[in-house]
Amino acid sequence: MNTRSKLIVILYLFLSISTLSLYAKNPRNVIFMIGDGMGISQIYAAMVANGNTLNLERCTFTGLVKTYSFNDFTTDSGAGGTALACGVKTKNSMIGMTPDSIAVESILEVAERNGLSTGMVVACAVTHATPASFIAHQPNRNMNEEIASDFLKTDIDVFIGGGKKYFAERTDNRNLIDELKQKNYTVAYSMNEVMAVKSGKLAGLLYDDQNVAMPERGTMLADATMAAIDILDNNKKGFFLMIEGSQIDWASHDNHAENVVREMLDFDQTIGRVLDYAEKTGNTLVIITSDHETGGMTIPSGNIEKRQFNAQFSTKGHSGVPVPVFTFGPGAQNFTRIIENTSFKSKIEKLLKIK
Ligand code: MG
Ligand code: ZN
Repeated sequence: MNTRSKLIVILYLFLSISTLSLYAKNPRNVIFMIGDGMGISQIYAAMVANGNTLNLERCTFTGLVKTYSFNDFTTDSGAGGTALACGVKTKNSMIGMTPDSIAVESILEVAERNGLSTGMVVACAVTHATPASFIAHQPNRNMNEEIASDFLKTDIDVFIGGGKKYFAERTDNRNLIDELKQKNYTVAYSMNEVMAVKSGKLAGLLYDDQNVAMPERGTMLADATMAAIDILDNNKKGFFLMIEGSQIDWASHDNHAENVVREMLDFDQTIGRVLDYAEKTGNTLVIITSDHETGGMTIPSGNIEKRQFNAQFSTKGHSGVPVPVFTFGPGAQNFTRIIENTSFKSKIEKLLKIK
């Protein structure tokens, strides 16, 4: 063999070994990103408006997720979040429980119990259905005060979103802000205060109730996500972080295509920052999926060159169609094919070697 052939063989071996080791390796960290209401049309609308590209395309594996709930063809975000977080199908509106009201530990709680750091960053009140599913156990998603109390029953390290009033101005006169401080949380009320925290436990309650929509929300979701990673990253055992692009759903309920794109691009910016981190560290599995599609959105026509699309909606509510899942990093190959929304918890437990 001449020198050139030898070099090619060496390069080939190196690439095969590094590829194999990537697939063989278990992740240290899992970042679970949920675009609420994000179906294929929401994604494609944002992709076209963004010049035929999204950060999402950097993911290496894709699959489809069935979303039906225990009692409904069309899930709500309570049952959808509970399936993703706790691995059980439940009745619409229920949070972190089986249909007969038995609490089920979420993947975040399992990670916490196993000594990993845990967090959530959302573009809505932290007591809203999707984040609630990862930390609370209540028969109804509207029980915001009870859901807020459930945060105090855990040792979640970082949570950032809205919903301050459910902690501070309660009908039972408990002051959960004081209780959080007693549990050694730094309580932050603005992004400046969030960014100043570099370690320890952080409760970021940025809005009285729900976060504002895009563009007013600015880069809150991406910035808070990176601030959370910065803190959670200090744990050698690893971390589990849930991130929600919460308002893709609300824009889709409004059948407002322009706002769908705004919220989608905000989520995709966050995905880009997360994938940069995962690429750099090599030990983080990123899972991006949705709890259900909203609006029955479809795009019969458009123009890619002009970044234009024509959207139509078939409902003001959710639809029953499967949603996509995209993954990146060690373990990413385990989320292909057509899977149930209840399959994430056990897959993540297996990959993180926790139960
Ligand atoms: Mg949600
Ligand atoms: Zn919805």
